[in-house]
Amino acid sequence: MSNKLYRAYSLVDDHPDLGNVCFAWFYHLRKKPVAPYQDLIEGYHALNEAEKGNAKRDLNELFTDDEAQAVGAYLKHEYGFESFLIEKPLPLNPKDMTDEATLKIERDTGAIYMLAAEPGYSLPFEVWAYYHLLGDWKAEKTEPSNIISRGKKKIAWLASDIFRAFPKAVTGLVFYILGCGCIYYQRKFVNGDLDHKIGIYRDAEDEACEACMAMAGAWKNRVIDETVVYNCKFQVKS
Ligand SMILES: [Zn+2]
Repeated sequence: MSNKLYRAYSLVDDHPDLGNVCFAWFYHLRKKPVAPYQDLIEGYHALNEAEKGNAKRDLNELFTDDEAQAVGAYLKHEYGFESFLIEKPLPLNPKDMTDEATLKIERDTGAIYMLAAEPGYSLPFEVWAYYHLLGDWKAEKTEPSNIISRGKKKIAWLASDIFRAFPKAVTGLVFYILGCGCIYYQRKFVNGDLDHKIGIYRDAEDEACEACMAMAGAWKNRVIDETVVYNCKFQVKS
């Protein structure tokens, strides 16, 4: 078994029914875990029954590598949706099962999209999504939430932009959120190499960041969160 599971997302602009929307795709009602729970969930035996139940449910919603690739290809082929994956290294901390604490785009609305109920659905397992209407996410920039939460939201957009720009060459992106709010990232190429060049993202309307200018070389020491995002390796047959 691979030592990772994945959560898959699609950001769709101008969806005919939903407008700008983020879908957090999940495996609906997995019958058997992909490995014993104690191998998949960190500190499993120390959890109480309720915690175990929640952790199992969340874990079973994640995709294996093969499943994630199939979902990505299906969404692209059937709907024209791009997807990206957030890696979940195993064993997984129960608090890190979903990205809802940081990404704020999953369960907070309770909205569910039953992809598997669409006519002609043909994946061998059921995929549903939590979805969240995005509206104008840039307008929320001044909202008093923490830096990581805002950073993750930007990462989702940034990743989909970068993958759109380099559909073949870039398979992954490593994002680093710094304490000052700046986001640094490295591209990961098809052969597995990490780009030596570090990309830096700041909102265009913001002033230059003083913390980053003063400590240009030592940015790694100021990383407060690291996220790895993978592009789906689409095998679209037509
Ligand atoms: Zn900065």
